Amino acid sequence: MTSSNIPTQPFVDGVHQAAAGGAALHLVNPATGQPLGTVQTVTTFQVSAAVESAHRAWEGGWRDLAPGKRADILFNVARVIRENLELLAQIECANIGKPISDARDEIGLGAKVFEYYAGAIGKYFGQTIPVSRGGFDFTLRQSMGVVAAIVPWNFPFPIAAWKSAPALAAGNAVVLKPASLSPLTALRLGELAHAAGLPAGVLQVLPGSGREVGDALVTHPLVRKISFTGSTEIGRRIMELASRDLKRVSLELGGKSPNVVFADADWQRAAETSPMSVFANTGQDCCARSRMYVERSVYDGFVERFVAATRRLDVGDPRLESTQIGPLVSEGQRATVEAFLADARKAGSQVACGGSRLPGPGSFLAPAVLLGVGASDRCWREEIFGPVVAITPFDDEAGMLRDVNASPYGLSGSVWTNDLRRALRVSRAIQSGVLSINCHNSVHVEAPFGGFKQSGLGRDLGMAAMDGFTELKNVYIAD
Ligand code: NAD
Ligand code: MN
Repeated sequence: MTSSNIPTQPFVDGVHQAAAGGAALHLVNPATGQPLGTVQTVTTFQVSAAVESAHRAWEGGWRDLAPGKRADILFNVARVIRENLELLAQIECANIGKPISDARDEIGLGAKVFEYYAGAIGKYFGQTIPVSRGGFDFTLRQSMGVVAAIVPWNFPFPIAAWKSAPALAAGNAVVLKPASLSPLTALRLGELAHAAGLPAGVLQVLPGSGREVGDALVTHPLVRKISFTGSTEIGRRIMELASRDLKRVSLELGGKSPNVVFADADWQRAAETSPMSVFANTGQDCCARSRMYVERSVYDGFVERFVAATRRLDVGDPRLESTQIGPLVSEGQRATVEAFLADARKAGSQVACGGSRLPGPGSFLAPAVLLGVGASDRCWREEIFGPVVAITPFDDEAGMLRDVNASPYGLSGSVWTNDLRRALRVSRAIQSGVLSINCHNSVHVEAPFGGFKQSGLGRDLGMAAMDGFTELKNVYIAD
């Protein structure tokens, strides 16, 4: 990848615009520690201008475009993403150290999301309702106006796609704010979508810090809806700010997802596959299965296999096809994770493997397996967002479920059992928005994704996402 392939300016009104006055983001390749480039951010004044022109683009055309035309454009966006898949994957790999094979999968997922919502346009509609007084009553699903999409750095491209695509499909304009650490593929998306036929102003991309650009977006009176993915802490702040104008919000937040293995399960297969359910993306995954509950009779054998499988993971240069685990996104993120590990050691937990830095440059950390972590320890309760798992034995189902549900989070999780009735009972009992039985898949383009409790509000993906990007209107016609 050459530096000329790297977009460096905000994408506003169909062009990359110079942003005089905004602070610069200095990007570092976390696999090498080398500077990657500089991206200009926007000032709060430019945020206002971009929102206002997005509003004009919505009101002046996108909102009223024939549904079939909107669908054609979004299908075209998907096609153009696929044509640029390799370039986008290389950019993501260099920007955040994402292993190249994962990066390719994620760009492909982004394209699939645009296809899904292009197709959804003609399949999402209101109802006719037989109201008791007679006459004719029907509902409309209407666009809202400008949607602010605020996304994190761990899955920059797919999350940008799964907010933008349904919002655009529903007829809204979108102002996308990528995370400060990962603005590059979002800037490319703005440019590619415009080249694919999306009118100028309908998708604006504004890189910048959360405190400046994020806050200015969330409080702008013409922003009608905020779709946020990030930490629970920032989600709480966004909800507070949004309450002033009663803006609509949907929030996809943190997690501390359980992975429960019963002795009746194919626990050997669970032990082989579970390391990647927490260590994929270097553990920087809201759905990471970071606390494992293993039924005591198979605990020792399980831990032995799990540790062996963890040691076999290919950790290193994200540019190599064979690499499974890249660096942490930044030195700061590695330091945060190391502080968790230091606490665990101090509390007397055993580090069965990993937890040390890799020699050489880059913010690498070998995946760590913790045993003997106390139920009230930080590593058992808090989201670490790095390559750390804690494994504990359990004796009875009810006690295990009480501990699982004691978490303030409720995003995802896995359950391993071959007992059908137990699978049903436990999947009903666990308080989380997403669960997988005998596997670790959390995300399907066609199915709703989101959290219970402090893991979020509202749902991304599937047809459920369309509800979050529309207002529901009821119209009644007298006889
Ligand atoms: P973060 O909350 O620090 O930042 C997310 C985004 O919000 C960034 O674009 C950031 O610049 C912006 N932001 C920060 N302060 C803001 C403010 N005051 N106003 C408006 N915007 C602001 O999260 P992160 O560190 O980028 O990502 C990690 C977190 O994201 C983890 O907690 C993880 O669990 C969560 N996450 C959740 C999901 C999900 O779908 N539930 C998916 C991925 C990540
Ligand atoms: Mn953060």
